[in-house]
Amino acid sequence: MSVYRAAQVATAAGPFEIVEREVPQPGPCHVRVAVDACGVCHSDSLFVNAALPGVRFPVVPGHEIAGRIEELGEGTQNAWQVGDRVAVGWFGGSCGHCTPCRQGDFVVCRNLKVPGWAYDGGYAETVIAPADALARIPDALAATDAAPMACAGVTTYNGLRRSSARPGDLVAVLGIGGLGHLGVQYAVAMGFETVAIARGAAKADFAKELGAHHYIDSTADTSVADALQTLGGASVVLATAANSGAITATVEGLAPRGELVVIGADPEPLGISPTQLLMNGKVVRGHPSGTAQDVQDTMAFSALHGIRPMIETVPLDGATEAYQKMMSGTARFRMVLTTR
Ligand SMILES: [Zn+2]
Ligand SMILES: [Zn+2]
Repeated sequence: MSVYRAAQVATAAGPFEIVEREVPQPGPCHVRVAVDACGVCHSDSLFVNAALPGVRFPVVPGHEIAGRIEELGEGTQNAWQVGDRVAVGWFGGSCGHCTPCRQGDFVVCRNLKVPGWAYDGGYAETVIAPADALARIPDALAATDAAPMACAGVTTYNGLRRSSARPGDLVAVLGIGGLGHLGVQYAVAMGFETVAIARGAAKADFAKELGAHHYIDSTADTSVADALQTLGGASVVLATAANSGAITATVEGLAPRGELVVIGADPEPLGISPTQLLMNGKVVRGHPSGTAQDVQDTMAFSALHGIRPMIETVPLDGATEAYQKMMSGTARFRMVLTTR
């Protein structure tokens, strides 16, 4: 019997434990992936804490997976080969029969399969994933850089490219943490006049290193909205900070017809009045991640433009440490678990 190691949580909000499990066979339309790296995303806590319905314990979290195909299930041989380098992200497969799926809008599938929720995720040496969840990793990207692209990367990249902004437009990225530091780099590479917004003057240098053309310190005397209007008003604000107050504060900084694209998850309501939206035709929109093809596009664009996540790697045995560091906000950007 061959076994693999996984970092599982046995009960809601319980500790991580490293366990050995028997290596499973992939079923039809599934492949077995040997995990090389898995990013630690804040959304993993939704499953660890059973904050969403249907979490089954023990659970193995992890939806920023990068690895190699080790075994092909029936019906996958035409598209994939053993050894192919693949990533699996928040989009861990769709049902194919709900209305959004039948309309071709797979990322809002009513039965979306998120790894670490619908099936065991990437805090492990092995994952069984549906073939429609697989994104090809370009040679130029290391597994540790590819993994965060499957959630943090695709969410910011897609959030921007599916927005109403066009090259040359003023685009602001709120927050320069795990999501935002990628968002700034993508915004610059897409040709937007890019504004980074974060707390404190000390982050100005980092924002400039990421390529931002402007930096707004949200703790300064001038409000974020006024600072954005001084620059002409933002066509798009990509709100990556999980802070409803900070997100709300950007609305008056939007240009006419401006669009607030929300990707930072905060359960608190946004304090936006209808009047604020009406007069200038502003739009507030939530943006969900992206499909496997979107993840593949994100990685290809990142390889083309030399865009990489800032990561800190920890071996799988240190899952507890990596998770706690992410939760406490003391991580230097993306924590990534490695298996070799
Ligand atoms: Zn995520
Ligand atoms: Zn569906």
